[in-house]
Amino acid sequence: MTTGTLDQRGRALGVLRLSLTARCNLACRYCRPENQDPPALLTHQQRLKLVGAAARLGCRRLRLTGGEPLLAPGLVPLVQAVKALDLVEDVALTSNGVLLDRPLARRLQQAGLDRVTISLDGADPRAVLRMGGGHSFAHVLAAVGHAQAVGLPVKINTVVMAHGNGDQVIPMARLCRRLGVELRLIEYMDVGNRNGWRPEQVLTAAAMTTRIARHWPLEPVGRRHGATARRWRYRDGGGFVSTIASISEPFCGDCNRLRVTADGMAYTCLFAGQGTDLKPALDPRQPDAVLVRQLRSLWQQRQDRYSEERRSQQTSPAPRPSPAEMAYIGG
Ligand code: SAM
Ligand code: SF4
Repeated sequence: MTTGTLDQRGRALGVLRLSLTARCNLACRYCRPENQDPPALLTHQQRLKLVGAAARLGCRRLRLTGGEPLLAPGLVPLVQAVKALDLVEDVALTSNGVLLDRPLARRLQQAGLDRVTISLDGADPRAVLRMGGGHSFAHVLAAVGHAQAVGLPVKINTVVMAHGNGDQVIPMARLCRRLGVELRLIEYMDVGNRNGWRPEQVLTAAAMTTRIARHWPLEPVGRRHGATARRWRYRDGGGFVSTIASISEPFCGDCNRLRVTADGMAYTCLFAGQGTDLKPALDPRQPDAVLVRQLRSLWQQRQDRYSEERRSQQTSPAPRPSPAEMAYIGG
């Protein structure tokens, strides 16, 4: 098995983020999905072929995402088939949770899903409505309970917009402490072309943890190599909270993620303007080696460090080709 392919900055491929659809049943303010899938989505077999090829290059973790992945047909069989391949150590799902009822949570757990991250942007129905999450609050809260009840480890993602749900940092921390779930507070990022991102809308990770620490003292745990989240432990034993600070503390230096859209376009950075079409190599008539070769070459040429470049240019990054939308590229 070939392992440890490095990019131009010495970074190994660690995580494949595979989007199953660009469609979504919500319309979060910071994401603004188009609600239409591109033509020719990857088939079950093509997805498995992709996971196999990524694993050949050393990738050990798969995250299924979207759009909203629970809208995509074939999710449970995909999880089951990936686990049966036994090529990756960890299969995770990122979902808005709206469609996650108890039977589906159980089927996913039985299929071998290792963990789920559920997005929730406020600790009460009005805050969620304000952020574009419609009337989903009760469903999402219930989804967290369903995942916990069937034994799926759960985390909650909250994207924080300073003038949108900046007031939800403490309520979300309180809610997650009560639920026994780790909260991941995400800085609002300039992904895509539709969310009207402005630097003033970013509440930095430091500002968020300072607020939380006034209520519940925190102790830093740090950031694992290749991880996006910096973790903090509540000193009173109330669990953990983490921050994803792509704007204020970029982590490009050890970024190990390859993103592939539902129609088979590979992106080596969340902020990339251009993807690489894997579909010809994913054609079932092509030997697996063709795809492995294409992925290896793509990874070896990778130089991306957009967030670091943005920070070094302060508030106005250099113009770049029109970037892909978040719901298409999968977050
Ligand atoms: N629909 C699923 C969900 O929301 O969890 C999965 C797809 S969503 C694109 C993946 C993650 O990206 C979510 O946690 C979402 O909150 C986050 N996200 C979307 N737009 C963002 C932005 N502009 N800045 C930071 N995070 C964002
Ligand atoms: Fe949908 Fe997720 Fe985008 Fe919200 S962040 S609109 S739930 S894809």
